[in-house]
Amino acid sequence: DGDVAIQGTVVRGRERRPHEGEKLVKAQGVTKSFHGNQVLKGVDMDVHAGEVVVVIGPSGSGKTTLVRTLNHLEPADGGSIEINGQTVGCKAGPQGRVVALSDRDISLQRRNIGMVFQRFNLFPHKTVLENVTLAPVQLHLMTAAEAETFGMELLRKVGMAAHAKKYPHQLSGGQQQRIAIARALAMKPSVMLFDEPTSALDPELVAEVLAVIAELARDGMTMVIVTHEMKLARDVADWVVFMEDGNVVKQGPPESLFGPDAEPRIKRFVQSVS
Ligand code: ADP
Repeated sequence: DGDVAIQGTVVRGRERRPHEGEKLVKAQGVTKSFHGNQVLKGVDMDVHAGEVVVVIGPSGSGKTTLVRTLNHLEPADGGSIEINGQTVGCKAGPQGRVVALSDRDISLQRRNIGMVFQRFNLFPHKTVLENVTLAPVQLHLMTAAEAETFGMELLRKVGMAAHAKKYPHQLSGGQQQRIAIARALAMKPSVMLFDEPTSALDPELVAEVLAVIAELARDGMTMVIVTHEMKLARDVADWVVFMEDGNVVKQGPPESLFGPDAEPRIKRFVQSVS
């Protein structure tokens, strides 16, 4: 009925999004090598507005590298990436054309793309609220007062408003990750990228972060999530991308990857991480 359930937490009222409509992320034929070792071998991936795309696959298959190319943290070698209709710089474009963006263009594009890492990397000497308000104020997108009001709203959303004046070291890993999510949301990004957001957490802290992600999904946030949490893939994803050895080998709605008719290699993978 469209509800999503994360370890007993039911987030109500979200219909599965169809894999169609306006594309916020359009990656085609993306390639990337490190020292002659090709780790992305021509990856195609589309993410539509409001859609949650979960990227799964064995370690080393290129999942992290793929999301990092979307945010310019790693320049792709070839292929094309568009986010919000804007080309993300590749060393070589579709026809071998060099597409080099200025640092200014890159930072403008990054404002539109929220990123949450495995390690939360909060500013240790700033309070929780300061961590959330810093970027929009520094970039003159909001006044300090506006950023505080919006920051508190975001902290309420991730269940951390009561901790606004604390410092990161006073908080658990799950709480810090929820703040890292609020910090990314403070820039009002059109897409949120998550790179294994729960894999550095103690097992008992995973659920609270998954519940926040599920709630963002319910709000209609467009997200790309690299994860080993099959619950997230099963319960929250609209679309699942399975990578192996630098390629997308299968993509589709969750039931097509996790159902009884799933391919043996996907079943083996799911068993290995469950
Ligand atoms: P996954 O996220 O699926 O585990 P990664 O994208 O992290 O896969 O890694 C894919 C491959 O690329 C791995 O073999 C990894 O060792 C290699 N790799 C990733 N980043 C770098 C880097 N900065 N320098 C060299 N090799 C890298």
